[in-house]
Amino acid sequence: MSTLPLFDLAGRTAVVTGCNTGLGRAMALGLAQAGADIVGINRSDPGDLAAAVAALGRRYVDLNADLGADLSDRGGATDLMAAAAAAVDGRIDVLVNNAGIIRRQAAIDFSEADWDEVMAVNLGAVFRLSQAAAQRFVTQGSGGRIVNVASMLSFQGGVRVPSYTASKSGVLGLTRALANEWAPLGINVNAIAPGYMSTNNTAALREDAQRNEAILARIPAGRWGDPQDLTGAIVFLASDAARYVHGHTLAVDGGWLAR
Ligand code: NAP
Repeated sequence: MSTLPLFDLAGRTAVVTGCNTGLGRAMALGLAQAGADIVGINRSDPGDLAAAVAALGRRYVDLNADLGADLSDRGGATDLMAAAAAAVDGRIDVLVNNAGIIRRQAAIDFSEADWDEVMAVNLGAVFRLSQAAAQRFVTQGSGGRIVNVASMLSFQGGVRVPSYTASKSGVLGLTRALANEWAPLGINVNAIAPGYMSTNNTAALREDAQRNEAILARIPAGRWGDPQDLTGAIVFLASDAARYVHGHTLAVDGGWLAR
Protein backbone atom coordinates (compact mmCIF):
# COMPACT_ATOMS: atom_id res chain seq x y z
CA MET A 1 0.00 0.00 0.00
CA SER A 2 1.37 3.39 -0.95
CA THR A 3 1.76 5.97 1.77
CA LEU A 4 0.24 8.66 -0.49
CA PRO A 5 -2.82 7.96 -2.68
CA LEU A 6 -1.15 9.88 -5.54
CA PHE A 7 1.42 7.10 -5.84
CA ASP A 8 -1.06 4.24 -5.47
CA LEU A 9 -1.24 2.00 -8.56
CA ALA A 10 -3.94 -0.36 -7.27
CA GLY A 11 -6.24 -1.42 -10.09
CA ARG A 12 -3.72 -0.47 -12.81
CA THR A 13 -1.92 -2.81 -15.17
CA ALA A 14 1.65 -2.16 -16.29
CA VAL A 15 3.28 -3.84 -19.29
CA VAL A 16 7.05 -4.13 -18.84
CA THR A 17 9.43 -5.32 -21.55
CA GLY A 18 12.50 -7.35 -20.60
CA CYS A 19 11.51 -7.92 -16.98
CA ASN A 20 13.07 -11.37 -16.58
CA THR A 21 16.20 -9.74 -15.19
CA GLY A 22 18.02 -6.52 -14.25
CA LEU A 23 16.30 -3.16 -14.24
CA GLY A 24 13.10 -4.47 -15.82
CA ARG A 25 12.61 -7.02 -13.07
CA ALA A 26 13.25 -4.43 -10.36
CA MET A 27 10.82 -1.97 -11.97
CA ALA A 28 8.15 -4.66 -12.36
CA LEU A 29 8.46 -5.49 -8.67
CA GLY A 30 8.40 -1.79 -7.72
CA LEU A 31 5.22 -1.25 -9.72
CA ALA A 32 3.65 -4.34 -8.15
CA GLN A 33 4.64 -3.09 -4.71
CA ALA A 34 2.72 0.12 -5.50
CA GLY A 35 -0.32 -1.96 -6.42
CA ALA A 36 -0.11 -2.69 -10.16
CA ASP A 37 -0.67 -6.00 -11.92
CA ILE A 38 2.15 -6.77 -14.35
CA VAL A 39 2.30 -8.15 -17.87
CA GLY A 40 5.85 -9.07 -18.89
CA ILE A 41 6.97 -9.08 -22.52
CA ASN A 42 9.95 -11.41 -22.37
CA ARG A 43 11.90 -13.64 -24.68
CA SER A 44 13.51 -15.44 -21.72
CA ASP A 45 11.88 -17.27 -18.84
CA PRO A 46 11.20 -14.78 -16.03
CA GLY A 47 11.93 -17.43 -13.40
CA ASP A 48 10.35 -16.72 -10.04
CA LEU A 49 9.00 -13.28 -10.99
CA ALA A 50 5.37 -14.45 -11.01
CA ALA A 51 5.82 -15.82 -7.49
CA ALA A 52 7.56 -12.63 -6.33
CA VAL A 53 4.69 -10.50 -7.73
CA ALA A 54 2.12 -12.84 -6.19
CA ALA A 55 3.88 -12.47 -2.83
CA LEU A 56 3.08 -8.75 -3.13
CA GLY A 57 -0.59 -9.63 -3.68
CA ARG A 58 -0.56 -8.83 -7.42
CA ARG A 59 -0.97 -10.72 -10.66
CA TYR A 60 1.84 -11.45 -13.14
CA VAL A 61 1.23 -12.66 -16.71
CA ASP A 62 4.09 -13.42 -19.08
CA LEU A 63 3.85 -12.98 -22.85
CA ASN A 64 6.61 -15.11 -24.24
CA ALA A 65 8.35 -15.65 -27.54
CA ASP A 66 5.35 -17.49 -29.03
CA LEU A 67 3.76 -14.08 -29.40
CA GLY A 68 6.78 -12.52 -31.07
CA ALA A 69 8.36 -11.17 -27.91
CA ASP A 70 11.75 -10.95 -29.61
CA LEU A 71 11.76 -7.21 -29.98
CA SER A 72 14.39 -7.18 -32.72
CA ASP A 73 11.58 -8.35 -35.05
CA ARG A 74 9.64 -5.57 -36.68
CA GLY A 75 6.19 -7.07 -36.49
CA GLY A 76 4.02 -7.88 -33.56
CA ALA A 77 3.67 -4.69 -31.51
CA THR A 78 -0.08 -4.41 -32.02
CA ASP A 79 -0.59 -8.10 -31.33
CA LEU A 80 1.60 -7.93 -28.23
CA MET A 81 -0.34 -5.01 -26.77
CA ALA A 82 -3.66 -6.70 -27.63
CA ALA A 83 -2.48 -9.91 -25.96
CA ALA A 84 -1.29 -7.93 -22.94
CA ALA A 85 -4.70 -6.31 -22.54
CA ALA A 86 -6.55 -9.58 -23.13
CA ALA A 87 -4.46 -11.26 -20.44
CA VAL A 88 -5.71 -8.78 -17.83
CA ASP A 89 -9.38 -8.17 -18.52
CA GLY A 90 -8.95 -5.91 -21.52
CA ARG A 91 -7.21 -2.84 -20.17
CA ILE A 92 -3.67 -1.61 -19.75
CA ASP A 93 -2.57 1.61 -18.10
CA VAL A 94 1.22 1.76 -18.24
CA LEU A 95 3.90 0.68 -20.73
CA VAL A 96 7.52 0.49 -19.60
CA ASN A 97 9.89 0.17 -22.57
CA ASN A 98 12.82 -1.34 -20.73
CA ALA A 99 14.31 -4.07 -22.96
CA GLY A 100 17.61 -3.00 -24.44
CA ILE A 101 21.00 -4.21 -25.59
CA ILE A 102 24.50 -2.83 -26.01
CA ARG A 103 27.30 -3.76 -28.41
CA ARG A 104 30.84 -2.55 -27.67
CA GLN A 105 33.31 -2.06 -30.52
CA ALA A 106 35.36 0.81 -31.95
CA ALA A 107 33.23 2.88 -34.32
CA ILE A 108 35.73 2.42 -37.12
CA ASP A 109 35.23 -1.36 -37.05
CA PHE A 110 31.57 -1.40 -35.99
CA SER A 111 29.50 -3.97 -37.89
CA GLU A 112 26.22 -3.29 -39.62
CA ALA A 113 24.65 -6.12 -37.61
CA ASP A 114 25.65 -4.46 -34.32
CA TRP A 115 24.21 -1.19 -35.59
CA ASP A 116 20.94 -2.68 -36.83
CA GLU A 117 20.19 -4.94 -33.87
CA VAL A 118 20.75 -2.26 -31.25
CA MET A 119 18.70 0.31 -33.15
CA ALA A 120 15.90 -2.23 -33.68
CA VAL A 121 15.56 -3.22 -30.01
CA ASN A 122 16.47 0.04 -28.27
CA LEU A 123 14.64 2.49 -30.54
CA GLY A 124 12.49 0.78 -33.21
CA ALA A 125 10.65 -1.43 -30.71
CA VAL A 126 10.21 1.50 -28.33
CA PHE A 127 8.41 3.46 -31.06
CA ARG A 128 6.27 0.56 -32.24
CA LEU A 129 5.18 -0.56 -28.76
CA SER A 130 4.52 3.04 -27.72
CA GLN A 131 2.37 3.58 -30.80
CA ALA A 132 0.43 0.36 -30.17
CA ALA A 133 -0.04 1.29 -26.50
CA ALA A 134 -1.19 4.82 -27.36
CA GLN A 135 -3.72 3.44 -29.86
CA ARG A 136 -5.02 1.17 -27.13
CA PHE A 137 -5.20 4.02 -24.57
CA VAL A 138 -7.25 6.02 -27.08
CA THR A 139 -9.58 3.09 -27.76
CA GLN A 140 -9.97 2.54 -24.01
CA GLY A 141 -10.73 6.26 -23.60
CA SER A 142 -8.45 6.15 -20.60
CA GLY A 143 -5.21 8.01 -21.21
CA GLY A 144 -2.12 6.19 -20.02
CA ARG A 145 1.53 6.26 -19.09
CA ILE A 146 4.58 5.38 -21.15
CA VAL A 147 7.99 5.25 -19.47
CA ASN A 148 11.01 4.67 -21.69
CA VAL A 149 14.44 3.66 -20.45
CA ALA A 150 17.09 6.08 -21.64
CA SER A 151 20.72 6.24 -20.47
CA MET A 152 23.61 8.50 -19.57
CA LEU A 153 24.36 8.11 -23.27
CA SER A 154 21.16 9.99 -24.05
CA PHE A 155 23.18 13.00 -22.83
CA GLN A 156 26.79 12.02 -23.53
CA GLY A 157 28.69 10.47 -26.42
CA GLY A 158 30.35 7.46 -24.82
CA VAL A 159 33.19 5.49 -26.36
CA ARG A 160 32.99 2.30 -28.46
CA VAL A 161 29.17 2.19 -28.27
CA PRO A 162 27.99 4.15 -31.35
CA SER A 163 24.68 2.35 -31.90
CA TYR A 164 23.86 2.38 -28.20
CA THR A 165 24.50 6.13 -27.94
CA ALA A 166 22.52 6.80 -31.12
CA SER A 167 19.61 4.67 -29.90
CA LYS A 168 19.49 6.11 -26.39
CA SER A 169 19.85 9.69 -27.65
CA GLY A 170 16.96 8.77 -29.95
CA VAL A 171 14.94 7.54 -26.97
CA LEU A 172 15.29 10.95 -25.33
CA GLY A 173 14.16 12.73 -28.50
CA LEU A 174 11.35 10.28 -29.16
CA THR A 175 10.13 10.70 -25.57
CA ARG A 176 9.75 14.43 -26.18
CA ALA A 177 8.22 14.00 -29.64
CA LEU A 178 5.58 11.52 -28.45
CA ALA A 179 4.85 13.59 -25.34
CA ASN A 180 4.09 16.61 -27.52
CA GLU A 181 1.61 14.70 -29.65
CA TRP A 182 0.02 12.58 -26.96
CA ALA A 183 -0.23 14.88 -23.92
CA PRO A 184 -3.51 16.24 -25.34
CA LEU A 185 -4.77 12.63 -25.37
CA GLY A 186 -4.09 12.22 -21.65
CA ILE A 187 -0.99 10.12 -22.29
CA ASN A 188 2.16 10.98 -20.35
CA VAL A 189 5.37 9.94 -22.10
CA ASN A 190 8.52 10.22 -20.00
CA ALA A 191 11.82 8.41 -19.58
CA ILE A 192 14.20 7.30 -16.86
CA ALA A 193 17.93 7.60 -17.55
CA PRO A 194 19.70 5.15 -15.25
CA GLY A 195 23.32 5.81 -14.39
CA TYR A 196 25.78 2.94 -14.06
CA MET A 197 23.74 0.09 -12.58
CA SER A 198 24.82 -3.44 -11.63
CA THR A 199 23.14 -5.68 -14.23
CA ASN A 200 24.13 -8.03 -17.07
CA ASN A 201 24.34 -4.99 -19.34
CA THR A 202 27.33 -3.62 -17.40
CA ALA A 203 28.99 -6.88 -16.32
CA ALA A 204 31.89 -6.39 -18.76
CA LEU A 205 32.61 -2.92 -17.34
CA ARG A 206 32.58 -4.13 -13.75
CA GLU A 207 34.87 -7.05 -14.63
CA ASP A 208 37.42 -4.66 -16.15
CA ALA A 209 39.26 -3.46 -13.02
CA GLN A 210 40.52 -0.23 -14.61
CA ARG A 211 37.15 0.77 -16.08
CA ASN A 212 35.41 -0.17 -12.85
CA GLU A 213 37.72 2.04 -10.81
CA ALA A 214 37.42 4.97 -13.24
CA ILE A 215 33.60 4.75 -13.27
CA LEU A 216 33.36 4.53 -9.48
CA ALA A 217 35.69 7.49 -9.06
CA ARG A 218 33.40 9.62 -11.23
CA ILE A 219 30.10 8.75 -9.52
CA PRO A 220 29.46 11.28 -6.74
CA ALA A 221 27.44 8.69 -4.80
CA GLY A 222 30.55 6.48 -4.87
CA ARG A 223 28.85 3.23 -5.85
CA TRP A 224 27.21 1.42 -8.75
CA GLY A 225 23.46 1.78 -8.83
CA ASP A 226 21.33 -1.09 -7.61
CA PRO A 227 18.32 -1.96 -9.84
CA GLN A 228 16.05 -1.15 -6.89
CA ASP A 229 17.30 2.43 -7.00
CA LEU A 230 14.83 2.91 -9.88
CA THR A 231 11.76 2.02 -7.80
CA GLY A 232 10.89 5.58 -6.76
CA ALA A 233 11.28 6.98 -10.27
CA ILE A 234 9.22 4.31 -12.01
CA VAL A 235 6.39 4.43 -9.49
CA PHE A 236 6.34 8.23 -9.67
CA LEU A 237 6.23 8.36 -13.48
CA ALA A 238 3.57 5.62 -13.66
CA SER A 239 1.36 7.27 -11.05
CA ASP A 240 -1.04 10.20 -10.74
CA ALA A 241 1.76 12.07 -8.97
CA ALA A 242 3.29 12.64 -12.43
CA ARG A 243 0.05 13.67 -14.15
CA TYR A 244 1.49 17.04 -15.31
CA VAL A 245 4.95 15.65 -16.20
CA HIS A 246 5.37 15.23 -19.96
CA GLY A 247 8.45 14.60 -22.12
CA HIS A 248 10.92 14.53 -19.24
CA THR A 249 13.94 12.25 -18.95
CA LEU A 250 14.69 11.72 -15.28
CA ALA A 251 18.27 10.77 -14.44
CA VAL A 252 18.74 8.27 -11.60
CA ASP A 253 22.50 8.27 -11.68
CA GLY A 254 24.13 8.81 -8.30
CA GLY A 255 25.00 12.31 -9.49
CA TRP A 256 26.93 11.27 -12.64
CA LEU A 257 25.45 14.00 -14.86
CA ALA A 258 25.86 16.68 -12.23
CA ARG A 259 29.59 16.26 -12.32
P1 NAP B 1 19.97 -6.68 -18.90
O1 NAP B 1 20.07 -7.27 -17.55
O2 NAP B 1 20.88 -7.12 -19.98
O3 NAP B 1 18.45 -6.80 -19.39
C1 NAP B 1 18.07 -6.45 -20.69
C2 NAP B 1 16.66 -6.94 -20.93
O4 NAP B 1 16.30 -6.68 -22.31
C3 NAP B 1 16.54 -8.45 -20.75
O5 NAP B 1 15.28 -8.76 -20.23
C4 NAP B 1 16.65 -8.95 -22.18
O6 NAP B 1 16.11 -10.22 -22.40
C5 NAP B 1 15.85 -7.89 -22.89
N1 NAP B 1 16.10 -7.95 -24.32
C6 NAP B 1 17.26 -7.76 -24.96
N2 NAP B 1 17.10 -7.97 -26.28
C7 NAP B 1 15.80 -8.31 -26.46
C8 NAP B 1 15.03 -8.67 -27.60
N3 NAP B 1 15.55 -8.72 -28.84
N4 NAP B 1 13.73 -8.97 -27.42
C9 NAP B 1 13.18 -8.95 -26.19
N5 NAP B 1 13.86 -8.63 -25.09
C10 NAP B 1 15.16 -8.32 -25.22
O7 NAP B 1 20.21 -5.12 -18.82
P2 NAP B 1 19.60 -3.97 -17.91
O8 NAP B 1 20.74 -3.19 -17.42
O9 NAP B 1 18.59 -4.47 -16.96
O10 NAP B 1 18.93 -3.11 -19.07
C11 NAP B 1 17.59 -2.69 -19.05
C12 NAP B 1 17.49 -1.36 -19.79
O11 NAP B 1 18.21 -0.37 -19.06
C13 NAP B 1 18.10 -1.38 -21.18
O12 NAP B 1 17.32 -0.59 -22.05
C14 NAP B 1 19.46 -0.73 -20.97
O13 NAP B 1 19.97 -0.15 -22.13
C15 NAP B 1 19.09 0.30 -19.93
N6 NAP B 1 20.18 0.85 -19.16
C16 NAP B 1 20.96 0.07 -18.35
C17 NAP B 1 21.96 0.68 -17.61
C18 NAP B 1 22.84 -0.10 -16.70
O14 NAP B 1 23.78 0.50 -16.15
N7 NAP B 1 22.59 -1.36 -16.46
C19 NAP B 1 22.17 2.05 -17.70
C20 NAP B 1 21.38 2.80 -18.52
C21 NAP B 1 20.37 2.20 -19.24
P3 NAP B 1 17.09 -11.52 -22.34
O15 NAP B 1 17.37 -11.77 -20.89
O16 NAP B 1 16.28 -12.56 -22.99
O17 NAP B 1 18.33 -11.15 -23.11
